Amino acid sequence: MSTSGESINNIDYNVICQFFLSLNRQGPGSKESTLRALSLIENLSEIKNIADLGCGTGSPTLLLAEMTSAQITALDLFPAFLSRLNDNAKQMGFGDRIKTMQRSMLELPFEDESLDMIWSEGAIYNIGFKKGFVEWKRFLKPGGYIAVTDATWFRRDPAPEIFEFWNNSYPEIDYCDVKCGQILDAGYEVIGIFRLPQSCWSVEYYSHVPAAPESFKSKYSGVETATELIGWMEEEMRLYAKYGETYGYTFYIARKL
Ligand code: SAH
Repeated sequence: MSTSGESINNIDYNVICQFFLSLNRQGPGSKESTLRALSLIENLSEIKNIADLGCGTGSPTLLLAEMTSAQITALDLFPAFLSRLNDNAKQMGFGDRIKTMQRSMLELPFEDESLDMIWSEGAIYNIGFKKGFVEWKRFLKPGGYIAVTDATWFRRDPAPEIFEFWNNSYPEIDYCDVKCGQILDAGYEVIGIFRLPQSCWSVEYYSHVPAAPESFKSKYSGVETATELIGWMEEEMRLYAKYGETYGYTFYIARKL
């Protein structure tokens, strides 16, 4: 899920939220990728406090709960996402370990050096990659981990059409080496990086979109935001089909020095 820079009112939020609730996840990713990133964390059994920032309905959050014994604070702007996550957490027996919090990642409520790990799949773009690494660092204990996915160029010299698209929606998309440099500059060591396979976009995310708009369209027919949203999503998918080898998400896993 991405948002344009313009401000949107509450009705728009509701429409956007309903659309993404109808998908099984709110951004590219997969269980396998989350597990692969987790496998790079050396002392997983010692991880006691995790914050999942921009958790959405919590596909990664639930897996974090399954794979660790940690207390997890799952934070997102949208209450409907959080209530879906709460329901699933309870159903899976994680109700006591996953605490949801409606809050912006720009105003985190944590104590300094209180977290063993920060997780943020497909969401750090909301604060910005560089700013996220800089500003979230103080909440991590020394040696604490951070794992995020973010838009990354996979090929040099992207075609003007796709360059323009990203420049308008998320100009911080960059090459992996540039982003690793930003992580180092912010005072971390890079533990691992890997590209998400294309199936994380096409199968796990976009394949659910064509079904979603049908119910969504009838519910919100004539609502301008809904029509715009569907059009925007279809354009994003068209571009991915055309340029999916040029860009994608890279998982960045780092450790606070
Ligand atoms: N991590 C989830 C969702 C990714 S989509 C997954 O991998 O499936 C990005 C999420 O960021 C959305 O749920 C959106 O509501 C949330 N978000 C957007 N702006 C935010 C902000 N300022 N603070 C917290 N969450 C935000």
